Amino acid sequence: MTISLISQLIWGFGVVAWFIIRLPHQIRSRKTPIAQRAGGWRDRILLCISLTGLGLIPGIFVFTGEPHFADYAISAIQMVIGAVLMAGALVLFHLTHKYLGRNWSVTLDTRATHKLVDTGIYSRIRHPMYTAFWLLAISQAVLLPNWFAGLAGPIAWATLYFLRIGHEEKLMIDTFGEQYRRYMLRTKKVIPWVY
Ligand code: SAH
Repeated sequence: MTISLISQLIWGFGVVAWFIIRLPHQIRSRKTPIAQRAGGWRDRILLCISLTGLGLIPGIFVFTGEPHFADYAISAIQMVIGAVLMAGALVLFHLTHKYLGRNWSVTLDTRATHKLVDTGIYSRIRHPMYTAFWLLAISQAVLLPNWFAGLAGPIAWATLYFLRIGHEEKLMIDTFGEQYRRYMLRTKKVIPWVY
């Protein structure tokens, strides 16, 4: 087995594990009543863009090898760095789902019994699940030996992240008012103490 193949397998296992971690939460979320839908079509389009860059384009590359023009040789050290980033993304993703519980939703919604989560991994940053997505997207760029399929992840994820984050924080302020404003004052968005 070549380093290129092992790297692609690590990415593939990572994405399958990501899906398995989310599945029970996805099923439970369908049964949890919604109070407010704030996302609409805009949010759905952003989710499609993100799915294309994080799943469809890299999936096509892994299964068909296309687009060949963007291939490059990957080193063992690059593969190891990618694997570590992917492992970190998975652990963090699992923890965020555990902490958010029934408050999680794939589109921008609030639940009938929504509670602000601001402890544990939510005590220093407000968007640790998005941190996990950043790690996933970066690990894709590091693991796939094709710059087009690799960079599709961070570009698609950045599109969703930057066009959603303001709307999500506004929804949280509308829902929790002063409580969220105080939470904002003592936390960063995705990187503790930095951003
Ligand atoms: N941005 C968060 C949550 C992503 S899931 C993170 O990265 O960890 C998106 C949903 O979570 C939104 O619809 C919003 O209603 C909800 N949400 C966001 N921050 C929250 C918080 N601190 N506590 C409870 N729910 C939150």
